Order: sequence, then structure tokens, then C-alpha cells
Amino acid sequence: MNKIYNVGIIGAGVSGVVTALQLAKHGIDSVLFEQGKSVVSGPPFCHLHAGGNLYPDISESQCKLLMKQSIEMARLFPESIDERPTFISVPKTEKYEFNKLEERLDVLVQYYRDLIVEDPANKILGAPEDYYKIYTESDLKVLAQRPSKKQPKSPDEWMTNAIKLIDYNKLKMPVVLVQEYGWNLFRLGAQAQLALNNTPFCDLKTSTNVTKIKDVRTENLDYNWEVSTKNGIYKVNYLVNSSGFKAGEFDELLHLNNARLIEFKAAYVSKWQPITGLIPELIFHGERGTPRGMVQLTPYCDDYYQIHGMTNEITLFVNGLVKSNTNEPQPEFEAGIKQKLTRGWDYEEVKTRTEKAITSVTKFVPTFKSASVGGPPLFGAQQIPGDDPSLRIGEVRFPCKTYARSEIVKASSALTVANQVLNKIQEIGIMPTIKDSGRQNPILESISKDEIDVLAEALAVQRGYPKALSRLLIER
Ligand SMILES: Cc1cc2nc3c(=O)[nH]c(=O)nc-3n(C[C@H](O)[C@H](O)[C@H](O)COP(=O)(O)OP(=O)(O)OC[C@H]3O[C@@H](n4cnc5c(N)ncnc54)[C@H](O)[C@@H]3O)c2cc1C
Repeated sequence: MNKIYNVGIIGAGVSGVVTALQLAKHGIDSVLFEQGKSVVSGPPFCHLHAGGNLYPDISESQCKLLMKQSIEMARLFPESIDERPTFISVPKTEKYEFNKLEERLDVLVQYYRDLIVEDPANKILGAPEDYYKIYTESDLKVLAQRPSKKQPKSPDEWMTNAIKLIDYNKLKMPVVLVQEYGWNLFRLGAQAQLALNNTPFCDLKTSTNVTKIKDVRTENLDYNWEVSTKNGIYKVNYLVNSSGFKAGEFDELLHLNNARLIEFKAAYVSKWQPITGLIPELIFHGERGTPRGMVQLTPYCDDYYQIHGMTNEITLFVNGLVKSNTNEPQPEFEAGIKQKLTRGWDYEEVKTRTEKAITSVTKFVPTFKSASVGGPPLFGAQQIPGDDPSLRIGEVRFPCKTYARSEIVKASSALTVANQVLNKIQEIGIMPTIKDSGRQNPILESISKDEIDVLAEALAVQRGYPKALSRLLIER
């Protein structure tokens, strides 16, 4: 362990892997520690929030940032993006008015145009004028009469397939189809892991738990940090804490105190009967945490569907959101949640929650009642910096000169964090200043679709999920 690494990264979730890959792109070596067997094995993601349309209450500026960061991540990992649109609706039971959503959509279209002017390669959500399309009740009546299309291409074809299944009498009018795509975590994880294994600039250590970090900055050594694992002590100049919801544990060791929330959530895997054509992701908005919480139905291959229901009986959990205390930067979950995180779920609870999730969809898609449990839930805990649980954009903080803490709330912020870390280590002289960083990463680009297909499937199966979850609905 005599080697001194420029950068040590704790945690190979989406944030840690993207940071390591951006460093490697510029020839900066790192050691990346991950306690799990493979990378990107923490909390799941399935939706590319390119505009924040799943969150009617967040600010316009958060929506724009979500769009920008999502586009950047989609450009980095195109093989993980499922180019199917999202259907957004507001049930009649909700007070939320559609025109508020529409005003924001117009702002987003203009913002998307600006991003394309800045760089034409940003046009990954289709033509700006097609970013969203509104449908009135009479439009839906017409579309409902058209034949389904197995592989829909236009917004009208996607809407035709969807509206034949949805009980739209329950929804306020109009409804909208927006180009927010699916995002496949198995494919992103596979591409990242293959790329990290290929580069000489990252020493990826999976199945390696970091037990302690020691600040040796004042000890006149050639490095600033010692990172302890069961197998030894690693010397690093710059330390990045990207350990997700566990980030507070390392802050605690460094006597740093900052407020954070951690939240445990789950999405459920169901299997339905074959239907005549692909459908978009379906969103039925509702007040979070109430029995009417938002329902989200995410389509996968081979008739698998993932369901989020923002109620305490489905995706959220009683005591699932915990905050830090003064002098205790790492919040603690209660025993039942810790058990789910570490030792897995009781089958009865998987069944009960998945069935409740299916029932929540059935309110709007009556024929979905024939769906059944399709696999274990996708679950995990995430951090939210500060004390506002509705925050959707978290980035990075630099509590001291050679220490960064990643605080992402959505997977889409990972590249922003990586680039901010890169800027910081140039500023303090760990790497020379680079002129043009370029948007893409050749190490990722060198990985073929076939390699991603194989490893993504293996990762899904290894983690106990149907292999269909590793594929895209819309093959690239
Ligand atoms: C149910 C659910 C659905 C979600 N859906 C979406 C979505 O659709 N779109 C979206 O953008 N975001 C979504 N998110 C949020 C997204 O999952 C997170 O923002 C993102 O995964 C966080 O990445 P991260 O790298 O910061 O943390 P993590 O993915 O948690 O990575 C941290 C890593 O550090 C490792 N680690 C921790 N401690 C140690 C240690 N001591 N030693 C070694 N390794 C350690 C962990 O094993 C883990 O792999 C969702 C979250 C949940 C819970």
C-alpha cells in the first residue's frame, strides 16, 4: 500500500463512478472503494428527470437544472436511455391545476432550445417543438378509436396505445405527453464498471468496505488522507465522499457537522399480460404521503412494469425519512428499515406492498388488475442535503481544502458533481489546469453495446431481478 493515489473515492454509486471516470479521462489516478459486489448497486433510478415534470411543486430553476443535467448524463451514457415518453395527468381528486404545469412546460421548451444553440449535440429529447404535446378530452376520444401500434413512433401513436387502457374520466383535462425518458440503472452500471476495469487510471475495489478515514494533513507527509479497509490502509491526496446516505458517517469521523435528511423508498416489480403496443410511462399526480400520492407506472421489456406509489403503504415508509441532529451528522433509520437495507425483505411484505402498488394503478388502468408480483422491489436509501425534503437538486460541498462530499438527490446530478470535483483539484494544484474538458468520455465510448447487454443482464440476475429489466423498450 505504498502507492499514493491522487484521489480516493468512497462509494461507487452513480456519483462515485462518474467522478472516477471523469478523473481517468484526464489521466488522474484514483482508488474507488465500493462495499458492494458491483457498482451502482445502491438506490435505484428509472426516470430521466429532463424537466422535473414529476414534481409539480418544485421551482422553475430546479426544473431547468434537472433538464440540463439529465441531458448531460444521457450524452455520457446513451445506452442506458430508453426513449419512450411520459404521460402526465392530474386526477380530478387533486387541487393542482394543469395550466400551472403548462406555463412551466413552455419555459422548458425555450430553455431546451437555448441548450441546443449552446451545443447542437444537446438535442437528445427530440425537436424542441415536440418536447410536449397537450391532449384535450376530444383529442383523446378520437385517438381511442385508432388502432394500436406495436412500436409507436409519434406522440399520437404513444397516446393512442395509452388512452385505450386509461380510465380518463377520472382525470382532469387536458393531459400531456412529455419527452422525459426511461433510465436503466443496470445498463449504466454495466457500462461504468466495464469502463473502470479498462482504464489504468482507476483502481476499482469492489467488496471493500471503508472502515475509517484519517486526516494527516498536518503530519508533514506526502499525502493528506489515510483510508482504512480490512485489507490495509490507502494513502490519498484528495478524498471524495460519495457514500450516498452514509456520507454523514465520514463527516462524523472528521467532526464536521451539517444537516441532512436520509430517506428510504421502494419501487415494485410487477408482471402484466401482453398488451397490443408499447405504452409510455404513466404518471397520475397526487399529494405525496397521502393515500392519493402520485402513481408512476414504468414499462420495461417482456411485460414487466415498475410501480411507485407515493403513499406510506407503497413507496414511502412510516419513519422512512429521518433527519440528522446537532453533533450527529449521520441520521439513523429504525430497526425495520435497517433490516430491509442490509438483510433483505420478508416475502409477505414484498407481496403485500406490490399488490397495493398494483391496486393503486388499477384505479386509473382498470385492466392492470390482472398484474402480479414480478420480482423483488427496487429499493434503497438516499440523502437529501439540508432539511427540505422537496429538494430535487443536490450537488457537492467542499468542507475543507482536500475533501469533497457528493450530495446528489437525483442520479442526473452525478456529472455536475464530478466536474466540480475536477475543477477543485485543478484549483489546488493536484492536476494541471485543462483548457477544454470536452463533453464526452472516450473510456465510456470504448465500451460496446454487446458488452453492456451482457453485463447489464448479469447484474440484474445477480441482484435477483428478471433479466428483462436490463433491456431497453426502444432498442438503440
Ligand atoms: C426508490 C428510489 C427511486 C429513485 N428514482 C430515481 C429516478 O428515477 N431518477 C433519478 O435520477 N434518481 C432517482 N432516485 C435517486 C437516486 O437513486 C440517487 O440520487 C442516486 O442513486 C444516488 O447516487 P450516489 O452515488 O450519491 O449514492 P449511492 O448510489 O447510494 O452510492 C453510494 C455507494 O457508497 C457505497 N458505500 C457506502 N458506505 C461505504 C463504505 N463505508 N465503504 C465502501 N462503500 C460504501 C454504497 O454501497 C453505495 O454503492 C431514486 C431513489 C430511490 C430510493
